[in-house]
Amino acid sequence: MSVWAILVAAGRGERLGLDHPKAFAKLGEDPLLAEPLRRLDNSEWVDAIVLVAPPGWEEPSILLAEELGCGKVSACVPGGETRADSVRAGLAEVPEDAVVVLVHDAARPLVPEAVIERVLAPLVDGWDGVVPGVPVSDTLKRVGADGTVLETVERDSLYAVQTPQAFPADVLRRAVASGADATDCAGLVESSGGRVKVVPGDPLLLKVTTADDLAKIASWL
Ligand code: C5P
Repeated sequence: MSVWAILVAAGRGERLGLDHPKAFAKLGEDPLLAEPLRRLDNSEWVDAIVLVAPPGWEEPSILLAEELGCGKVSACVPGGETRADSVRAGLAEVPEDAVVVLVHDAARPLVPEAVIERVLAPLVDGWDGVVPGVPVSDTLKRVGADGTVLETVERDSLYAVQTPQAFPADVLRRAVASGADATDCAGLVESSGGRVKVVPGDPLLLKVTTADDLAKIASWL
């Protein structure tokens, strides 16, 4: 089967407080984008990659891929206003004969090969999507705007969901075409009636939101 990866890297990353996009924040010596790009390119499960770059940063993104020798990068397109728009832009570059699409956040640089394998494997059983998740360990409360606790949420069945997320290409195309918005692709597939499975994620898949996250991930490298 042919597996196309869409690497979404078009977020602004305002909470990092930089004058350039999050994908070009420094992680060690390289831009953040280098790490997930290299890992997807090296993955034995990934056949080709579509890179969704911050608008205006397509050229530096292509140059970076070339410098890293990432030969699987087939296209680089500018992202959109929302994550779903960016996925839509990337999916437009995935050829009709692609069987599976793997969508990954560049903001989660340390993608383990084992997680890629774990999200792809259940697709043969007919799932509409497979996502990595980790059980929530903190107590969760719904809180009003003034700080008042409204309720304590039962956490037993709650998972924090990560990427990479895997989908049959036709399922993701239909979900994305619906025009819905969601913070992850599984949310788009769920809202169009799809059945999504959670497999074990990995704490290494921490998403970079703040400078502290970047420092933590750099220390794990
Ligand atoms: O902002 P958020 O944490 O949801 O971003 C998750 C991933 O989606 C990041 O890798 C970010 O670059 C990407 N993204 C994007 N286009 C947007 C917003 C986010 O590609 N408009």
